Amino acid sequence: MSISRLSSPVWRPFTQMKDAPPLPRAVRGEGETIILEDGRRIIDMVSSWWVNVHGHAHPDIARAIYEQASRLEHVIFSEFSHEPAELLCEELLRILPASLNHVFFSDNGSTAVEVALKMAYQYWWNIGRPRSRFLAFQGGYHGDTIGAMSMAGKSGFFAPFEDLLLTVDTISYPRLLGEDGDNTAIEELEARSILEIEEQAARHPHQYAAIIIEPLVQGAGGMRICRPEFLGKLSKLASELDILLVYDEVMTGFGRTGDWFACTRSATMPDLICLSKGITGGFLPLAVTCATDRIYDAFLSDDHEMTFYHGHSYTANPIACAAANASIKLMHQGGGAFRAMEESHRRLGARLAAEDRVRNFRVCGTISAFEVASQEPDSYFNKSGAQLKRKFLEAGILVRPLGNTIYFMPPYCTSHETLAFVYDRALDVIRNI
Ligand SMILES: *Cc1c(COP(=O)(O)O)cnc(C)c1O
Repeated sequence: MSISRLSSPVWRPFTQMKDAPPLPRAVRGEGETIILEDGRRIIDMVSSWWVNVHGHAHPDIARAIYEQASRLEHVIFSEFSHEPAELLCEELLRILPASLNHVFFSDNGSTAVEVALKMAYQYWWNIGRPRSRFLAFQGGYHGDTIGAMSMAGKSGFFAPFEDLLLTVDTISYPRLLGEDGDNTAIEELEARSILEIEEQAARHPHQYAAIIIEPLVQGAGGMRICRPEFLGKLSKLASELDILLVYDEVMTGFGRTGDWFACTRSATMPDLICLSKGITGGFLPLAVTCATDRIYDAFLSDDHEMTFYHGHSYTANPIACAAANASIKLMHQGGGAFRAMEESHRRLGARLAAEDRVRNFRVCGTISAFEVASQEPDSYFNKSGAQLKRKFLEAGILVRPLGNTIYFMPPYCTSHETLAFVYDRALDVIRNI
């Protein structure tokens, strides 16, 4: 009996269930606030795992979902087209770099990455020059399916699966230390990364199908920021070496970096881009992988083997597409709230950045992050994160530290006053642990 009481029917994501306490129940959402069953109001500083854009339960998106669900909830996308998907494609092509012309639908970030890897791999096979290796960056995270896991290198999450993974070589990531850090060496770090790619390409000539990066910000790896200049150098090199460039913008897309996408902010153009998380405003699962003509055209053939044989049951679900269309419309109407937040983070973060225990305070668009000094080395597995999280929650703020890295990634509707409150409480929490 005691075993069945201990044993939870729910197996939670990323959770060691052995000592997992029961979770409080969330019952409502309003703007950036999550309301719990016991009446507590929690400020959502992680945008509910980086998906929420306009705040919780936004009425425009809720209405779009209701209206679409009452008209056509779903239809097989290999047999019929529908207006919400067509509108979404048009809209995406309008806001993405001009060279990304073709939209392939799936339903989460990992599958969007999986699709990009398969497209890149099959591209080379289709043109009769097969390649079987990939390049990725240290500290990267691209999802939890097997191809996507492979791209994370030796991150420590995926040790049991090592034998299953694709062949990937990892490149060091030229990380900016932050506003207060010594960034004089950044050009050297960038040159080193570029050199590593050149060396790998010389070691395995014509073997790399693609190089994948989370442009501007590595998310799960610790909110590590690189310069737009690096993306310029990277895309130039990838094109010289003729290696396809994949931008995993699952997290950075839809305003997160202060522009529509990291590629638009850095004025660089990948061959493939993966989008998910914020695409529906955080309401429903949906993802797309967008490709250039060069890739798309390599799949056009009378030979059936050239076909991209990939699809999911809920491909281009009309309700999810309707939510995405409503969310993108709000982003257009919102007067660039996502552009303004960088300035708020910088201004409000100045005091925090000056604290003794705070290191590498950094900002990119709507994201700010810093390390809190502790006895242990900086790492995802640093244990001080759990304590910090508890203290923040007591102050009514949801954070989800990556080890001893704290980050704030609020919905764009979060006011300057609310952010000011969060930064004030952060000072208290950090001074008192
Ligand atoms: C979250 C994330 C993914 C995986 O997306 P899921 O929807 O969780 O499968 C992939 N890449 C990046 C950069 C992410 O942040």
